[in-house]
Amino acid sequence: MAEEKKTTRKKIQAADTMNRIMADYFHDLNDAAVNGKRKVAWCTSVGPAELLRAMGYAVHFPENHAAMLGATRMSTDLIPAANAIGYSPDICSYLTADIGACLKGITPLSKAYKGIESVPKPDVLVYNTNQCRDVQDWMAWYSRKLGVPSVGVTSPRNVNEVTDAHIDDVSRQIEALVPTLEGITGNRLDIDRLREAVSLSRECTELWKKVLETATAVPAPLTFFDGTIHMGPAVVLRGTRQAIGYYEVLLAELEQRIRDGVGAVDDETCRIYWEGMPIWGRLRQHSELFLQLKTSVLASTYCSSWIFQAFDARDPFRSMAKAYLELFIVRSDAYKETYIKGMLEKFRIDGIVYHDAKTCPYNSNNRYGMPQRLEAETGVPALVISGDLNDLRCVSDEQTKTNVEAFIEQIMEGR
Ligand code: SF4
Repeated sequence: MAEEKKTTRKKIQAADTMNRIMADYFHDLNDAAVNGKRKVAWCTSVGPAELLRAMGYAVHFPENHAAMLGATRMSTDLIPAANAIGYSPDICSYLTADIGACLKGITPLSKAYKGIESVPKPDVLVYNTNQCRDVQDWMAWYSRKLGVPSVGVTSPRNVNEVTDAHIDDVSRQIEALVPTLEGITGNRLDIDRLREAVSLSRECTELWKKVLETATAVPAPLTFFDGTIHMGPAVVLRGTRQAIGYYEVLLAELEQRIRDGVGAVDDETCRIYWEGMPIWGRLRQHSELFLQLKTSVLASTYCSSWIFQAFDARDPFRSMAKAYLELFIVRSDAYKETYIKGMLEKFRIDGIVYHDAKTCPYNSNNRYGMPQRLEAETGVPALVISGDLNDLRCVSDEQTKTNVEAFIEQIMEGR
């Protein structure tokens, strides 16, 4: 058993800038909804946010709100309200926490940001099922409840090679959203504004990729747990200049850490890849658990999922379609395994932790033999921890701690 000592996470100075940017984003969104100056669109995390921005919508991301419910540990008490109206405890706990919050009239936004009383009321709900079916059901509930249209893209999934046929299909579906979206704003789509939003998203993506790749350094200057927080602007502000400005600041700080030989974890001795969703209500505990073990969890599929390299302003619709199809979550196991193998090499990984999230099969890649296949091929050991993104009733803290400690000990002994 590893010896326990008091540890503290190293603060990333840019966090203050990020908090200001996020506050501005939420206030802007609130103004749009309250004053009615701009239409509000809700968009699933990998839905066509660039199109919505280009058309002048203020964009709210329900998954971001649900993650806030998880991180503030409000979700576990809210999920039963959604269960009571027939939404199973086994389906996405982002969905059930968010619907539960709506039913109870609660939001973490009102605690975090003065003057914001509720989630911004939508004029339209927009989804992309590239990640899962739950997002469509989630928007459908709000559509019925609030009487607003829900439109979106029904995406191919389990894709091995992304082909022209896939891209044609999704691209046409995105274009087909335009008349409905124009009808709501009363304005025609300006294709140059769309090109600009796509170009800004591409720039944001490039910077976010560079931020994550600073963790190839030894010691790594940031961890997965830092990444889950600092990805905020990439999630809610992609397609804007604010996100780009932020990642320039963050990248400079991390590059300075590398020049100074400063790691996020002092005396880093073990490097871990995190596969799956974070457990939002346990970010601090998990960060400290690994810190005590001098272990850096420094790369992940999750944080890398906001890298969209296909965006191309010259061909906005097709490049958006390609970017949304190339995502890890949309792909076949064969593709995923090749991708993870590349990440293990690039980040010099000693072990993989798979989070088996009870309510998200789509982000739990341990269920069909992948850990065993990858371990046999690469020799990199794997640990599966049971838990959930938002439902803390599925999390056993003691078991996680014991299993992680034993896993790190096994890796160190194997050297
Ligand atoms: S991918 Fe998982 S966590 Fe995300 S919305 Fe779908 S079921 Fe929920």
